[in-house]
Amino acid sequence: MKKKLNILFIASECAPYAKTGGLSDVVSALPIALTNLGHNVKIVIPKYSSIDTKKINMKKILLPMCVHMGNCEEWCSVYSTQHNKNVTIYFIEYEKYFNRDGLYHDSKMNDFIDNPKRFALLSNAAFQLCKDINYKPDVIHSHDWQSALSMIYLKEWYEDDPYFKNTIGALTIHNIGYQGKYPYENFGYLGFSDRLFNPNILEDFGDINFLKGGIHYADIVNTVSPKYAEETKTEEYSHGMHTFLIDKKDKYFGILNGIDYEQWNPDIDKLIPYNYDENNISEKSKCKLFLQEKINLKKDENIPIIGIISRFASQKGLNVLASVIEKVVMDIKVQFAILGSGDKSLENYFQSLTLKYSGKIGAFIGYDNQLAHQIEAGVDFFIMPSLYEPCGLNQIYSLKYGTLPIVRATGGLDDTIEQYNENTGDGTGFKFNDLTPQAIYDTIGWAVSTFYDRKKHFQKMRKTAMKKNFSWKQSAEKYVDAYKKALEGNKNIS
Ligand code: ADP
Repeated sequence: MKKKLNILFIASECAPYAKTGGLSDVVSALPIALTNLGHNVKIVIPKYSSIDTKKINMKKILLPMCVHMGNCEEWCSVYSTQHNKNVTIYFIEYEKYFNRDGLYHDSKMNDFIDNPKRFALLSNAAFQLCKDINYKPDVIHSHDWQSALSMIYLKEWYEDDPYFKNTIGALTIHNIGYQGKYPYENFGYLGFSDRLFNPNILEDFGDINFLKGGIHYADIVNTVSPKYAEETKTEEYSHGMHTFLIDKKDKYFGILNGIDYEQWNPDIDKLIPYNYDENNISEKSKCKLFLQEKINLKKDENIPIIGIISRFASQKGLNVLASVIEKVVMDIKVQFAILGSGDKSLENYFQSLTLKYSGKIGAFIGYDNQLAHQIEAGVDFFIMPSLYEPCGLNQIYSLKYGTLPIVRATGGLDDTIEQYNENTGDGTGFKFNDLTPQAIYDTIGWAVSTFYDRKKHFQKMRKTAMKKNFSWKQSAEKYVDAYKKALEGNKNIS
């Protein structure tokens, strides 16, 4: 087995160029971690019009590149820049598909009707790109439904191509709630044989399901935490995919995401007003007073604050929290610092609470990375009552900032947070199982009573949390292990 692997990441997002969620953080950080282990990684994403080409020093490198789709040829251009010293990122330009506002939907949140064509083109263009830049990948690594079709192109179109005949396909599922289901009328464009349009491969009740097809063809499939891998093998969590994932046997597994500690580390974070680490935690109180002032909370370091930074989507369980938050602030001496956007009724509701409970609830509706850092540093607890959570990043950032997570024991939340033990003061957070207003109320009460009444435990937990290490290096090693086992044709992937 050769030691240095060529790995091509194909994705719809990569931070900082294009980001709507955690997927982009993974596609940004994992290639760097893999390169640090000695591998040769390249990334390819679309060239969206929102990307500031000058700022990132993007250069056109290929004149029109012809990509053969099922019923036509598309002529794309390719740009590139250095993602970091060792990783090059390529951008596929195809104006008709990518030169518009928004990654997946318009400003009214309507999905672009040509999404299946846009992302089929991305998934296939990556192969032509490899040839044109003379790069033979050992691994094609796709992410979510947007690049899942690459798994099919690899096996159906390119298996005998000398560039790809030894290439394995890896597919990472970042969120199984999004599968890319589209009407059959798009099938001709994809260019696959009719044989593939059957319920075991691409068909899903008459539609095409991109993720399902990718799962079928990938040599290995993983998701972003071991617990979510298990959950998605059940009907409750799989959005219809459980039987196909169970069928993959040991070729389906979970690898926990890592965290970029260059960005999220209170000791060196430039976005927070005072730096601190576990030996110098008193500075965290100053971050708290700063935050209280900034978002109009009563300035008092002795009142615990609970933070929220989130997309307001049903997955996040915030509607259940919303049904009990008023009772919480009326009964319990606690404050909330809320940052997020999405569901309009939740946006309006949280905004309205800042007036009704002035000084107790502060909210900023929108996206603000600096405020996200300041909340992590300034609050005492961070709540994530998710219905499901493939990995979750904010609870892991929270640990590093000495902010104790209050989470529903699901997916990556369960894998990364250790339950508080009231006898010993061990643990890193507070977990509950049922997504009910009562469970949220009780668990907040439990956390807050630890802050007020079991101060030694609270301080011990903070230190334990801050010492936890979820670096990308560990995750990258697991990916390399999985790639290598797949390349060796080893059936025992775990
Ligand atoms: P998901 O990918 O499901 O949205 P994750 O917890 O995996 O959830 O990742 C969310 C990422 O987006 C985190 O880096 C988080 O800090 C960031 N984020 C979410 N909402 C906001 C916001 N309103 N402002 C700033 N950052 C946000």
